[in-house]
Amino acid sequence: MEESRQKLIGENGLRIDGRKPDELRPIRMEVGLLANADGSAYIEQGKSKIIVAVYGPREVHPKHLGLSDRAIVRCRYHMAPFSTQERKSPAPSRREIELSKIIREAFEPVIFSEYYPRSMIDIFIEVLQSDGGTRCAGITAASLALADAGIPLRDLVASCAVGKVEGCLIVDLNDEEDKEGEADMPVAYIPALDTVSLLQMDGQLTEEEFVEALKMAKEACMRIYQMQKQALKQKYVEAKEAVEEQE
Ligand code: ADP
Repeated sequence: MEESRQKLIGENGLRIDGRKPDELRPIRMEVGLLANADGSAYIEQGKSKIIVAVYGPREVHPKHLGLSDRAIVRCRYHMAPFSTQERKSPAPSRREIELSKIIREAFEPVIFSEYYPRSMIDIFIEVLQSDGGTRCAGITAASLALADAGIPLRDLVASCAVGKVEGCLIVDLNDEEDKEGEADMPVAYIPALDTVSLLQMDGQLTEEEFVEALKMAKEACMRIYQMQKQALKQKYVEAKEAVEEQE
């Protein structure tokens, strides 16, 4: 234990990548980069790199699968074979099937699916490079891709994990912290509704730690939320500048 204490949290209280416990990894977001999707977004969070494409609302095929009162929302979370250190099989694993389901559910409270009966909305999350926190970064980017597709949303969903390593609560775990740590708790938060739409727990926290971890997760999500809004605006700033240059 003493050996591992020095491993993930240094004597100066900083983490292996030099971050403070409540510090996010460097995050870069870009909106609208795929020409052939209705909406798209790219996120880099530390070394994790994810691209998201959204299609819809579009007609359901076969038609009998359509719902008369709302759109069907589908989600596919997938890790590219080259996204992990060891080549990952391209076939969907149990983990990817589970993540696809919980990510779809994380968006249920925000999508105005009742506006689009008999149609469907598809979210494709492709993990290009994986270094932990990909379900959360995938949700953060999928929010942007949904907004970019013009799908009416009650709010964006922002997502971040909190975990415990060597007794210390930390936000936005990288792969090593995720694997070596005592607990990992991914959270998706909808600020306008003050709703948590995803909360999972791998490992154990005490009740007090859980309360503190949830508070830290919400705070981290709020910081990510500001970045999301900035990334959405940036697309239009760039479009405006391009038009002005032409004039
Ligand atoms: P998250 O990426 O949301 O943290 P997990 O906690 O399930 O999801 O996984 C943590 C990390 O483990 C992933 O980001 C990835 O780096 C690694 N990982 C997951 N699945 C595989 C796999 N099939 N092969 C290699 N590494 C994987």
